[in-house]
Amino acid sequence: MNTIYYGRQYIDEDDCTAVREVLLSDYLTTGPKPRELEQRLCELTGAEYAISIANGTAALHAACFAAGIGAGDEVITTPMTFVASANCVLYCGGKPVFADIEADTYNISPKSVEALITPNTKAVIAVDFTGQAARYNELRDICERHGLVLIGDAAHSIGTKYNGKAIGNVADITTFSFHPVKTVTGGEGGAVLTNNKGYYDKLMLFRTHGITREHFQMISPTDDYWYYEQVELGYNYRLTDFQAALIISQLNKLDMFTARRREIVKRYNEAFSNMPEIIIQQEIPQSDTVRHLYIIQLNYDFLKCARREFFDAMFEKGIVCNVHYIPVYFHPYYERLGYKKGLCPVAERVYEGVLTLPLYYSLSDDDVERVITEVKKAVMYFRKPGVSI
Ligand SMILES: *Cc1c(COP(=O)(O)O)cnc(C)c1O
Repeated sequence: MNTIYYGRQYIDEDDCTAVREVLLSDYLTTGPKPRELEQRLCELTGAEYAISIANGTAALHAACFAAGIGAGDEVITTPMTFVASANCVLYCGGKPVFADIEADTYNISPKSVEALITPNTKAVIAVDFTGQAARYNELRDICERHGLVLIGDAAHSIGTKYNGKAIGNVADITTFSFHPVKTVTGGEGGAVLTNNKGYYDKLMLFRTHGITREHFQMISPTDDYWYYEQVELGYNYRLTDFQAALIISQLNKLDMFTARRREIVKRYNEAFSNMPEIIIQQEIPQSDTVRHLYIIQLNYDFLKCARREFFDAMFEKGIVCNVHYIPVYFHPYYERLGYKKGLCPVAERVYEGVLTLPLYYSLSDDDVERVITEVKKAVMYFRKPGVSI
């Protein structure tokens, strides 16, 4: 029996052709493809500006730089995310502050965000966890009232719409990731989107060492062909042309990816929604979601196992689940910075029960049924005696 992993990329002949063409062209990096990708992302989302960048983490770092995060600044984010959503604040010398999540959607709770605002708060980083849009209307309202920059970490949510608007054109600054497990991949890769020209100019500088060839950004502009100035401290965060070509080719398949992911999510929801032992993620009506991850939560009122036992039971049947995520501040590095368990009780409770089931474009119907069957078998096996349902 084949082993089924929780995620997997899908690469076809068109993708290979797109990469091969670039490999045989004049440019491997800083050629035309990153620019073409940026235009595609603007068309896809309606955002005015997009920059391609090395990866999703660099995208978040650039977003924090553009938002002006520096020493002493606080940025509020969720603990139910990959560490990069908080690390980007540390890169800039700021302090990540963790707001709790909603018990049913697992996205950041606007109420919890508002309660944590201090005079030092500069920005909020919302994460569209599993692909579902965060509560942007409420977050936008809070950010406007307190003068904060709203950053959307959309590593999971390319293709998702919020109130009919594409993710990428909802927050002040939005970041994408093109890691292989994400819906669209370039091997590695990322992008930052905004409608704000000021942020865009800073993002462009940051991606390339803080170097500019634009007169309006120079201290002493000259007309010399070869002249450039470094005016900020940036990084080499460029995306290569062959990665950009792969991402463009993958974007051509986004509708196809979306349709299949939706079919699988629908099938899982049908299978699990009437099982009290399994809690499924709730959706807000504002989010038209392209799901990146499918997460179940074990309901320990009805199950007598530890998550590890459930995971192992699936693993023995060749189904490799995962856990998204260990709360960021549980990591030893964050503990060393002084963060303590107990900060976000809802996130910590949800974390205890979550298990990520396989979800990706090429997952066959048979494999989906196999996952469902094995979840049901594990539930039967671990069901608490005497709990009537
Ligand atoms: C994957 C991911 C990132 C980081 O993206 P990379 O491209 O791997 O650097 C950031 N935030 C979230 C929520 C992610 O899932």
